[in-house]
Amino acid sequence: MPELIISISGLRGIVGRNLHAETAARYGAVFGTFLRRSGRRGPVCLGRDSRPSGPMLASAVTAGLCSVGCEVIDLGIVTTPTVGILTRHVQAAGGVVITASHNPIEYNGIKLLLDNGIAPPKPQAEEIRSLYEQGAFDPVGSVECGRVRSADDPDTVHVEKVLAIVDRKQVRRAGFRVVLDSVNGAGGRPGVRLLRALGCEVVEVNTEPTGLFAHGAEPTAENLADLGRHVLEAKAHIGFAQDPDADRLAVVDAEGRYIGEEYTLALAAKVVLEDRVGPVAANLSTSRMIDDVAAAVGARVIRTPVGEANVAQAMVENECVIGGEGNGGVIDLRVGPVRDSLVAMALILQGMARSGQSIAALAEGIGRYDMTKLKFPADAEQARRILDRAGQMFADARVDTSDGCRFDLPDGWIHLRTSNTEPVMRAIVETDSPERTRHYVQAVERIRDEVQ
Ligand code: MG
Repeated sequence: MPELIISISGLRGIVGRNLHAETAARYGAVFGTFLRRSGRRGPVCLGRDSRPSGPMLASAVTAGLCSVGCEVIDLGIVTTPTVGILTRHVQAAGGVVITASHNPIEYNGIKLLLDNGIAPPKPQAEEIRSLYEQGAFDPVGSVECGRVRSADDPDTVHVEKVLAIVDRKQVRRAGFRVVLDSVNGAGGRPGVRLLRALGCEVVEVNTEPTGLFAHGAEPTAENLADLGRHVLEAKAHIGFAQDPDADRLAVVDAEGRYIGEEYTLALAAKVVLEDRVGPVAANLSTSRMIDDVAAAVGARVIRTPVGEANVAQAMVENECVIGGEGNGGVIDLRVGPVRDSLVAMALILQGMARSGQSIAALAEGIGRYDMTKLKFPADAEQARRILDRAGQMFADARVDTSDGCRFDLPDGWIHLRTSNTEPVMRAIVETDSPERTRHYVQAVERIRDEVQ
């Protein structure tokens, strides 16, 4: 049975097997205790994606938080970025999101945010984990127990913030027809509202937040064949696909072709950089397309270890104008410090309206690289040997060791890193051509076979 995973970004497990109401109540009590002990006194914003196990886990986390004296603001079914935005908006002590993101329906998870709307940095995450393992929390008496209240209209706060970063009139004038596939997750309702406010005719696919995912929940090509068909049938200008908690976005062009999640950040960044030149942040596994887009206007790209909190933190510290991750996650600090599919949709539509170009032409203008991702078993010792061996093999490369090893070569890059949650190594190779990518993939596979 897979273990209950407690990582930097929270806790994740299979409901009824290793993730129970009791687990969630304890985690809630521990998080509330951590917030109080660190001097954070405000309420805690709590939201969930649309999974059927959401209400059960949300009630349990709420009970845990109230038991240590935290007031809870219940946001109901909302996107993950909405929780980050509301946490800052109401000056809460922290936020909790009940979601397992793109994982199948059996899973659920509890993601924690500090008062700045960002997941706790490693030392604080370790402290919370250690409190959880010790069962250390500070219960309060009857009178001091936290109360629960509902937020008025969290979607409105979110949608208004996104509308404020684009030229609403310009997008409205373009009169786009858009297909939105929300996989019956949390993104449908605010997604449709945003698109309508931008004057789009919206064709809704799987926008009911039932949590019964109509197809594989990750917005990858193999899961989005139907979306392509809907776009063609509706003669739409573009198709958008969100993951269940709506922090990631994938794009389908007017011909029904999946453009690829790596394009989402590059397309959005290009639009922002046309208005304001400033630093950009992306993790080490993100395509070089972002470097090209930034270089075209003389902007600097800051590379961070993988993990949304690392990118968000770097953005705040360096006052980045845009940032995110290659898996379709775009962060704009004017809206919030969380990857946000609504931000990505608004910026991409702004790009189409401003340029008068189709989404296919805009993607074409950014260029094309060839990327392959591998994953194979490797324990800590094997991982260390693989990295050593790769260091010898790619001795001429520029090396970044802030998260595993990234080797930058004249014709591409290779990023080797271990997972935080399982004994596997991930390898990402990107070059100018399928031949060169295959060459490096084979080199990585040889090292893997030597070590195992
Ligand atoms: Mg997600």
